[in-house]
Amino acid sequence: MAYTETSRRARGFTWVLLALLAPIGADTAHAEWLYREAAIMGTRCAVELWSDDRNRSEQAIASVFADMRRIDLLMSTWKPDTQLAAVNRLAADKPVVVSQELFDLIRVALEYSKETAGAFDITYASVGYLYDFRQHIHPDAAARLAALPGINYHHVVLDAANRTVRFTRKGTKIDLGGIAKGHAVDRGIEILRRAGYDRAMVNSGGDTRIIGDRFGKPWIVGVRDPNNEAVSFLRLPLTDAAISTSGDYERYFDEGGQRFHHIIDPKTGDSARSLRSATVIGPTALRTDALSTSVFVLGPERGLELIERLQDVDAVLVTPAGKVLYSSGLAPPVVPAASVPSKPD
Ligand code: AMP
Ligand code: MG
Repeated sequence: MAYTETSRRARGFTWVLLALLAPIGADTAHAEWLYREAAIMGTRCAVELWSDDRNRSEQAIASVFADMRRIDLLMSTWKPDTQLAAVNRLAADKPVVVSQELFDLIRVALEYSKETAGAFDITYASVGYLYDFRQHIHPDAAARLAALPGINYHHVVLDAANRTVRFTRKGTKIDLGGIAKGHAVDRGIEILRRAGYDRAMVNSGGDTRIIGDRFGKPWIVGVRDPNNEAVSFLRLPLTDAAISTSGDYERYFDEGGQRFHHIIDPKTGDSARSLRSATVIGPTALRTDALSTSVFVLGPERGLELIERLQDVDAVLVTPAGKVLYSSGLAPPVVPAASVPSKPD
């Protein structure tokens, strides 16, 4: 029968079509952008990636979060039994052996101290430990000045052969809060890369790194208004880049018309107050993390000077008056006068 013939032929055609589509369908049916969040290192962390296998991707994301927890256990100064806490307890009395990872991070931190004329200084903690932003506690001027001589990155002596850290002064303490999250983000990206992911974003608090694009489109990263977390005053298109923002709204309290917050000027031991936020864009999150904290301390003029001197970074700053300043790489393109369209008469 013509009818059966036609329908068998049609069915046959359908099967051939399905057989041809099946291998492609199996791959693409579950391909998706996967986004996960976790509370680690005292902040909100997030991973987003292009996934073609949900289970495998969930495992990869779990490895990134597990590594962030590991770094927190190594470097937190809040927890009493971390390696860094041991350094702060003992290094003024004797050299303390640390892991290669911690040693390398302290060495990089000291390099940033040199590069930023001491604006970035992990020994800020010699005074920093006197603040408790949750309890609204800050040292009075006398306590601050008494502890201030403890701040100086030259007090930290590293011995690469024995992998030890020593402090040359009693009262000196270090804290890696200005660089540890950037390090964790870079490690997260490395974990994903090794697992074969080439379109991904890893974020920890104010530090983000991106690899690849979103299929021909850039990733869009918002820079928040210092006065309103829900509002981005700038949306930056990025591919294969890192971006960090340091702001006076992360950990703070206000008292007597003044804001006491977590970024400390090593010269005074007081909170740095010549910017509201500093955003740095560059190649790695370690670099943008260290530099955003540095620029925040340096303030608008010296901060932009530093960024212009470095070839691989750009910055967006918000001043206390609400003015937005851009480094030359981000400034609007200069249109030659001749090409400005003239108004019709
Ligand atoms: P971020 O949000 O990356 O700017 O880091 C702020 C954190 O850096 C603070 O919570 C401190 O742990 C640490 N920090 C504060 N002041 C300094 C400083 N002058 N140099 C290096 N680290 C600092
Ligand atoms: Mg930082």
